[in-house]
Amino acid sequence: MKLGIKLLVASFLILNTSPAQAAPIYNFPISGCAVTYGKYHHDYPATDIFANKGCAFVAPITGVIDEVNTVDRWRGRTNLGADRGGLSISLIGEDGLRYYGSHLSKIEPNITAGYKVTSGEKLGEVGATGSAKGTKPHLHFGISYPTEKGIWWIRRGVGLENGKTSPWKYLKAWQAGKDLKPRLIIPATTPPEPKK
Ligand SMILES: [Zn+2]
Repeated sequence: MKLGIKLLVASFLILNTSPAQAAPIYNFPISGCAVTYGKYHHDYPATDIFANKGCAFVAPITGVIDEVNTVDRWRGRTNLGADRGGLSISLIGEDGLRYYGSHLSKIEPNITAGYKVTSGEKLGEVGATGSAKGTKPHLHFGISYPTEKGIWWIRRGVGLENGKTSPWKYLKAWQAGKDLKPRLIIPATTPPEPKK
């Protein structure tokens, strides 16, 4: 009987510390909604994830909120790079990379620069603000490396791995419940502002 209890306690401890039970490091950035997304993105590597307006944009990883833009200043006439994201949020993940979601319809009131978020925590809602005005609601999702504030051409997403890869394969992995860390080579100097 005593041995039986010991075995029961031992198996309970094993089950409780099993890595399979651990919370995921990475979460797919849209929760609770049907989504569609492809490998292609115009002009530079990023992924547009289509979902209904109001779907939850959640933190893909635990980290600290970097930049938040709560006002849609985009105008078609000027199409300024810094304004194209409309309502947007970036966060620096505990893996050292920056994650950016834009064209949001709403940002949660507690999401401000410096706020610590947990992977899977709601940040805002999918929309069509900024240069997505008039298009189907989607989350523009970009992965990059941390920079000074306002460097929109890096924040919007850079090529992963060999410099040309979009977040697509990582999104597929996270959607399937696999923790796959994006591989990204950080350049020695930040590239200058592009024309588009
Ligand atoms: Zn996009």
